[in-house]
Amino acid sequence: MKINISKLSDGEHFYTFIVKPSDLELDEKRFNKPVYVDATLEKSKRQLFLRANVYTVGRFQCDRCIEDFDMVLENSYRMYYVYSEEESKKYEPEEVVVITPETNEIDISDDVRQMVLLSVPMKLLCYEDCLGLCQRCGKNLNFETCTCKVEAIDPRWAPLLKLMERESLGNETEN
Ligand SMILES: [Zn+2]
Ligand SMILES: [Zn+2]
Repeated sequence: MKINISKLSDGEHFYTFIVKPSDLELDEKRFNKPVYVDATLEKSKRQLFLRANVYTVGRFQCDRCIEDFDMVLENSYRMYYVYSEEESKKYEPEEVVVITPETNEIDISDDVRQMVLLSVPMKLLCYEDCLGLCQRCGKNLNFETCTCKVEAIDPRWAPLLKLMERESLGNETEN
């Protein structure tokens, strides 16, 4: 994913890239759909300013129900390409790259790769209200119901359970 800047005129330029995840060294088990990037590069005498949107689809395993699911991933970033260290101090370190007047192209592959990885949420859920698996019988509660909960509160045990609950509450307040 390289942009040739050697003969670029001042002003805005638009780019679209579609690449295979393997070209970005992304794990193909997780990322098996193309990565799309649309970018705007604004060139002026002092700098180049890039804004990019990154899209792809990842395949993950749900933390709750352990089913595989696809998730659309989206991220965006910006980057300033400047011609001196002095100039670079104006920007956040992660948003600036120093280039020279001889720089012919800028490679955005590493940044795009980072953006894809950062777009993966910490908690992976097939959907927000996923019911997960029954802790007892292992059934996927999104697709079927089980009777485990009913059995757990066997009416004969109810008074004892209540007592135990009260006991533990009592202990908590003492501490
Ligand atoms: Zn799930
Ligand atoms: Zn169950």
